[in-house]
Amino acid sequence: MQVTVIGAGVAGLSCALELAERGVAVEVLERATQLAGAGCSWFAGGMLAPWCERESSTALVAQLGEESLAWWRARFPGTVVNGTLLVAHGRDAAELAQFARRTAHGRPLSADGIAALEPDLAGRFAHGLYFADEGHLDPRAALSALAARLAELGVRLRFGVEAPAGGRAGRAVIDCRGLAARPQLADLRGVKGEAVLLRLTELTLARPVRLLHPRLPVYVVPRAPGLYMVGATSIESDDGARVSARSLLELLSAAYALHPAFGEAQVVEIGTGVRAAFPDNLPRLRRAGEVLYVNGLYRHGFLLAPALARRAAQVLLAGGHFPEVMDEDSRQRRLA
Ligand SMILES: Cc1cc2nc3c(=O)[nH]c(=O)nc-3n(C[C@H](O)[C@H](O)[C@H](O)COP(=O)(O)OP(=O)(O)OC[C@H]3O[C@@H](n4cnc5c(N)ncnc54)[C@H](O)[C@@H]3O)c2cc1C
Repeated sequence: MQVTVIGAGVAGLSCALELAERGVAVEVLERATQLAGAGCSWFAGGMLAPWCERESSTALVAQLGEESLAWWRARFPGTVVNGTLLVAHGRDAAELAQFARRTAHGRPLSADGIAALEPDLAGRFAHGLYFADEGHLDPRAALSALAARLAELGVRLRFGVEAPAGGRAGRAVIDCRGLAARPQLADLRGVKGEAVLLRLTELTLARPVRLLHPRLPVYVVPRAPGLYMVGATSIESDDGARVSARSLLELLSAAYALHPAFGEAQVVEIGTGVRAAFPDNLPRLRRAGEVLYVNGLYRHGFLLAPALARRAAQVLLAGGHFPEVMDEDSRQRRLA
């Protein structure tokens, strides 16, 4: 079998790798001329937080996320598993309790516990919640590593190719175009996310830190030493062309509320991506003829792509059936 994967975001590259590792002849077509800035994946935070995300999603996301975390650990040495820390200011302590009730695996922390994990936050927060088994990665490094591994396996990544929608004679197609697939997947919508990259050496954080705040929830993810990604907004919009002043104000204010040292940070980049989401914010494998769509990864692309890719490969090669992520449509087609 020969497979064309359309889109070199995290979904497309994960699918291509799952297939290439099974010895399938794969090519990847990407309309951008390079990985940098190609799609939403380039702008992600890179949190691999199955348990925290349970707060606003289903058990399925946690289950697929846990599987994906193991996949990243096995394939990308830059995967760091040293947990996620949640903190809230005293007046917002109820937010922490509520978060703990809605999630699993979070361990309550005292001020001393917070200081032991993140010495630079010592004395700033009385209570926290620690999800020790969660991880994070630098999405840009991870995408580059996947592309390099694919090249080693003989997979051709063709950049600057605007692939038409639909099937190809003699080839199976996995369509991972993100929001660009909306003409074919009419129930997709865009959810804009804005984020800022900051450089500061006055502060060291070893792991993603989320500040719970009723109006300004924010997370800070460490990248290279001295570099932090502060994110992210979640706005019902397809407009990925601009970052609003209001969003910037809110992100930077929230970072400053986490630690005033962020006030001295150098702004390295202001970025935005548009996440593709289905109405229930859950991902789908959807089959239409020879095309298998992998889409709707919403705010969980890195968290979910490997688990979806594994299922997509099994569907293509062995007719695997995964009702938890496959649409009713696909099931009917498969049974027909
Ligand atoms: C600010 C922000 C923070 C985020 N943080 C996290 C996080 O911490 N953890 C997490 O798991 N997720 C996070 N996400 C979500 C994650 O980024 C997305 O879920 C993920 O990137 C979706 O990946 P994708 O491969 O489906 O789409 P994309 O990355 O958009 O890839 C689609 C690709 O298809 C290409 N394409 C489109 N049309 C064509 C065509 N006709 N021919 C060829 N190529 C085409 C595009 O150029 C693009 O490269 C975040 C998102 C944002 C915006």
